[in-house]
Amino acid sequence: MTASASVTPLATFDRVESRVRSYSRSFPEMFNRAQGATLYDIAGNAYTDFLAGCSSLNYGHNDPDLKAALIDYVASDGIAHGLDMFTSAKKRFLDRFERFILKPRGLDHRVQFTGPTGANAVEAALKLARKVTGRDNVISFTNGFHGVTLGALAATGNGKHRGGASTPLSGVTRAAFDGYYGPDINTADLLDSQLSDPSSGIDAPAAIIVETVQGEGGLNAASPEWLRQIQDIARRHGALFIIDDIQAGCGRTGGFFSFDGMGLSPDIITMAKSLSGMGLPLAVALIKPQYDIWKPAEHNGTFRGNNHAFVTAAAALEKFWADDGFAGKVAEKADYLARRLEAIADDYGLRVKGRGMMLGIETGSGEQASAICKRCFENGLIIETSGSFDEVVKVLAPLTITKAELAAGLDVLEAAFGSVAGSHRAAAE
Ligand code: PLP
Repeated sequence: MTASASVTPLATFDRVESRVRSYSRSFPEMFNRAQGATLYDIAGNAYTDFLAGCSSLNYGHNDPDLKAALIDYVASDGIAHGLDMFTSAKKRFLDRFERFILKPRGLDHRVQFTGPTGANAVEAALKLARKVTGRDNVISFTNGFHGVTLGALAATGNGKHRGGASTPLSGVTRAAFDGYYGPDINTADLLDSQLSDPSSGIDAPAAIIVETVQGEGGLNAASPEWLRQIQDIARRHGALFIIDDIQAGCGRTGGFFSFDGMGLSPDIITMAKSLSGMGLPLAVALIKPQYDIWKPAEHNGTFRGNNHAFVTAAAALEKFWADDGFAGKVAEKADYLARRLEAIADDYGLRVKGRGMMLGIETGSGEQASAICKRCFENGLIIETSGSFDEVVKVLAPLTITKAELAAGLDVLEAAFGSVAGSHRAAAE
């Protein structure tokens, strides 16, 4: 053993892992077990998880039915990796996706398995829109987040992430998201007039890409009317309308798609995060058939369609999306969450943002929000921030969390606001 060998378990990470790691800085414990809405560290301490893998664990950690399906599949020597060859696991997933998700919504989108990250689904969507239209420019929105590979990063607003590129991020024009200039200015009208003016300096777009609720950008929720107007603008100006549902989808804001019931018909939908149901990597671009003009292997990758993820994703669709029961229960929890957050926000003159089970409180400063999250962690609650200045404390609890667990986690959050926001208020008075 050398003198530099680890003396505490965390020393290994400091010594060996890249400095790029981030969440482990906010939650500096080592975890080894998780079930439902609870994570355990190696000392056996329990933490309620209000981060849920950044919405990758909407059905909680290690759902027993998803886990059983995966164990059975592995135990029977099911294919783990099959490139994009036909496998029974892929067929089962596609059949379930068609039956429970596409058909009931009258959708006939083709399913493209991209590389396994959300960013790669976005890369595929942007490449395809450019290929279909023969145009380069893409419109994305202020505070939007679409991933950190170069194409997706160009569409991302966040300055910290953009700063990591060290190369020009091109091919994207930024438009103002719904409400960016306050409630009295319709930013869709602004975009429409710019695109209608051949001398506005904005090249005709290949696509308009939007999140219905900006997950990383501060939980800004677009209204259905605004989204319909953006879709209409895309159609009139010959651009594809892309909804990035990577964080807001899979039940997080209500239905399976975050835009369910809004009268929208996106040309491309990107999904990842909770699609596999169990935190396994799986991402897709859903493409209207007339735009599925890829040549074989044009958007390639070794890990397109993870068979273990197909197994758990199919099990998740069967368990949670075969009828409306799950969405109904999520809506009840979302109402409770909204009431509790409104009560906390009212106490401190703050504002609740977001939609469904994707809600948070704008605290006014990143410093305050991170102090609140730190206090929560000390008291057994994992929760993170969002927004331009990390000023929003964001609740992303698993959708399967019990009411009692949700209430207990919110009690910890309320107490953290009391000690941090309360003391800031006292100091100001
Ligand atoms: N799009 C949205 C809306 C996201 O929230 C994210 C990740 O947070 C991404 C794309 C990128 O996904 P990934 O981190 O899997 O590349």
